[in-house]
Amino acid sequence: MTMRFPIYLDNHSTTRVDPRVVDSMYPYFSQHYGNAASKHHQFGWTAEGAVENARKQIARLIGADTKEIVFTSGATESINLALKGVSQGYASQGNHIITAQTEHKAVLDTCSRLEAQGFQVTYLPVDECGMVSPDDVRSVITDKTILVTIMLANNEIGTIAPIAEIAAMCRRREIVFHSDATQAVGRIPVDLSAMSVDLLSFSAHKMYGPKGVGALYVRKAKSQLKVVSQIDGGGHEKGLRSGTLNVPAIVGFGKAAEIANSEMSEESKRVSTLRDKLVSGITSGLDETRVNGHPTQRLLNNANITFAHIKADRLIMDMKEIAVSTGSACTSASPEPSHVLRAIGLSDADVHSSIRFGLGRFTTEEEIDYTIRRVVETAKTVRQKRQHHQFA
Ligand SMILES: *Cc1c(COP(=O)(O)O)cnc(C)c1O
Repeated sequence: MTMRFPIYLDNHSTTRVDPRVVDSMYPYFSQHYGNAASKHHQFGWTAEGAVENARKQIARLIGADTKEIVFTSGATESINLALKGVSQGYASQGNHIITAQTEHKAVLDTCSRLEAQGFQVTYLPVDECGMVSPDDVRSVITDKTILVTIMLANNEIGTIAPIAEIAAMCRRREIVFHSDATQAVGRIPVDLSAMSVDLLSFSAHKMYGPKGVGALYVRKAKSQLKVVSQIDGGGHEKGLRSGTLNVPAIVGFGKAAEIANSEMSEESKRVSTLRDKLVSGITSGLDETRVNGHPTQRLLNNANITFAHIKADRLIMDMKEIAVSTGSACTSASPEPSHVLRAIGLSDADVHSSIRFGLGRFTTEEEIDYTIRRVVETAKTVRQKRQHHQFA
């Protein structure tokens, strides 16, 4: 098989839609194009049936009940709905929110919006591996705490947080717990039947589904969670998120969940073997590299590597046939240095010398072999040029 360029190693930003997902979506554009909310004819029933089937596939992937899945336009919207909706719903009980410094901008920017509206937010620090400590969460809880939000897996360094423990603690204190699980769902097992998580956000396009569709898991319980809707009109999704459902995208999301469910364990082994090969190939071929994140509690497709004395931008530009990003690429709309790498204690120079590799379902061994060679070669060349400069 001949390799195709560029090589895609940016699977934390988005993923290629699985061809099986694309196939599942086609009929819902021009054949079964009904509105899932139309109750009086076959077009509507067919669309509704397809949406409910997808809801089942997605619920099964995360150990939830179908009634607990609310469709949204993606994780950013799910996170906004969860954080703003809970803050408004519980405002009479308190105004304190706890999160971590390494969260995705979707959480951090929503929190700063809430701060502007009078809520108090504690941004917990993390250790040098990017880990949030449950004890730290416990120690900052006050009588006014209404919400704790901690991401399951970090999108830059892949660190996996002990959310089961944090969620259990929040449940005992009757504090709502939300997790941004966008990088985790579909990649690692997430079983909400075994955790006291109240709300969980995730997105189809990070798990080989289409862009523009996501979900918010909302725990169904005797004491109903008070989540105030942020988009009103029509009362879709039990009033939590109005608007005509994107049926083809939801069908694709469901198919992506079904595939993840049946192929996850095998895929994990294959992808983590490739990731390990990439890391050892690069770190053994070059001096002064360092792997960021947690040695074991990390996403199996992630490698975040600091190349001392090299500007990451320069390295990336010099190997254009490999699609990777710097730690900050996820927020490239505002290109500031990665807040995640800073939070784990990297110097400014090291932050600017770090590259994130995100492997995925379609990554081949051939691509990894090529990438190792190219990264090692290119890094050596950049370092040599730098030395010429210094000593000329
Ligand atoms: C991609 C991502 C988001 C945003 O998801 P969208 O569906 O693109 O809105 C939020 N959190 C994390 C951790 C992500 O990786």
